[in-house]
Amino acid sequence: MIVVEELSKRYGRTVAVDGLSFAVRPGCVTGFLGPNGAGKSTTMRMILGLDRPSGGRARIDGRPYEALDRPLCAVGAMLEGRSAHPGRRARHHLLYLARSNGISDRRVDEVLELVGLAGDARRRAGGFSLGMAQRLGLAAALLGDPPILLLDEPVNGLDPEGVHWLRALLKGYAAQGRTVLVSSHLMAETALTADRLVVISRGRLVADATVDEFVAGAPSLEAAFLLAVGR
Ligand code: ADP
Repeated sequence: MIVVEELSKRYGRTVAVDGLSFAVRPGCVTGFLGPNGAGKSTTMRMILGLDRPSGGRARIDGRPYEALDRPLCAVGAMLEGRSAHPGRRARHHLLYLARSNGISDRRVDEVLELVGLAGDARRRAGGFSLGMAQRLGLAAALLGDPPILLLDEPVNGLDPEGVHWLRALLKGYAAQGRTVLVSSHLMAETALTADRLVVISRGRLVADATVDEFVAGAPSLEAAFLLAVGR
């Protein structure tokens, strides 16, 4: 379980995240929604220990990310698709990550197959299209077969078949009792994938509810979202 308590982040005068508290539960896909600049990426970076909070805390199964022994086996994360060094071959990028966490080389080939990159394993990441880079980022997130997945805009750049595949994968993970947090600006896609929503605006919590509760009475998720964030 991911728990965020009174989390805040200031960059100079900008308050990116403002006293945010929520919990992401296992067994369902939680969509993380907010307008551009709402603080979604900043929140995810703080959950992953990549940014230091100005206040509050984020915990993964009760511990800060830095305290996890083999982090890739606890949380699979993708913040930016293009996280691999452009000169490194896809398989080598994953091998390096796997070995740093005591994960077998065999698992690297498994995830390459799983994300549809087995045929491109020896190509350099710098030559990948956006969609292929997203798939490589997803492969890295899945490497440790983690009970928690945290993905920032994973649908970006994926082709329709990739979007369909990812939707099934996330739902499948949740059905296995895992915890899945996925940020998105695509309402229709979120409506198809998520069971629950955490909605933020200007760094603050606007809603923490099931999709059905959130949409109740509105004609669509998009309409409910626009109403909730006051746009
Ligand atoms: P979202 O992911 O919801 O689009 P972000 O977390 O990227 O939002 O950004 C939230 C706010 O924090 C924005 O106003 C953004 O400009 C600001 N911000 C994010 N990262 C930095 C940074 N490294 N330095 C300064 N401001 C930042």
